[in-house]
Amino acid sequence: MKLALEAPPLHTLAVAGREERFPVNRVFCVGRNYAAHAREMGQDPDREPPFFFMKPAGAVVDACAPASVPYPPKTTNYHHEIELVVAIGRGGRDIPIAQALDHVWGYAVGLDMTRRDLQLQARDKGRPWEFGKSFSLSAPIGALHRAEDIGHLANAAISLTVNGQPRQSSDIHKLIWSVAECVAYLSEYDALEPGDIIMTGTPEGVNAVVAGDLMRGEIAGLGAIEVRVTG
Ligand code: MN
Repeated sequence: MKLALEAPPLHTLAVAGREERFPVNRVFCVGRNYAAHAREMGQDPDREPPFFFMKPAGAVVDACAPASVPYPPKTTNYHHEIELVVAIGRGGRDIPIAQALDHVWGYAVGLDMTRRDLQLQARDKGRPWEFGKSFSLSAPIGALHRAEDIGHLANAAISLTVNGQPRQSSDIHKLIWSVAECVAYLSEYDALEPGDIIMTGTPEGVNAVVAGDLMRGEIAGLGAIEVRVTG
């Protein structure tokens, strides 16, 4: 096959303890999946159906070692959101909740970095969130841990510090929509594909970072990531 242009790069993530890398296809993100975060965003945390937005594969930053992200343009309110990341290994559509975890290849610690000012302007006008959420290098993600090695996570502390100061602290058992429910729900709307990533939402405590800040996110059982914001 002759291509008119050089093919765009494949984006991949490290796999803990292995040489092989995980190829990233699409990145789905769950909105408002912890009640206390829904409340801090001025929203009702009642259990409405989950909703999703997406980031491009090029949003992913390999943070298996200390990483950095540039402070993005067109914002003065750049926020951290620490999240449990789910990697899909086997695709499918209309996946039953009881079988959903069979489609999960692994888990990682990730950050859904957000231009909060742009997101809220869009939200309040009923416009898409893309400019607030879906930009390059907005999803630093640590090494993936294979489900076949560590099993599936039901309870695990999730936390983020900035320059050593606590910002976010919760437990993934507080997810309003569980990993299995998110997988099943998404697969009703579109077939999930191998390589898809699901960022499962952030707990309360989101806040701004500025150039020079060092974020350290951790989920018990998945280790920690360190990401510095550069100017
Ligand atoms: Mn998020």
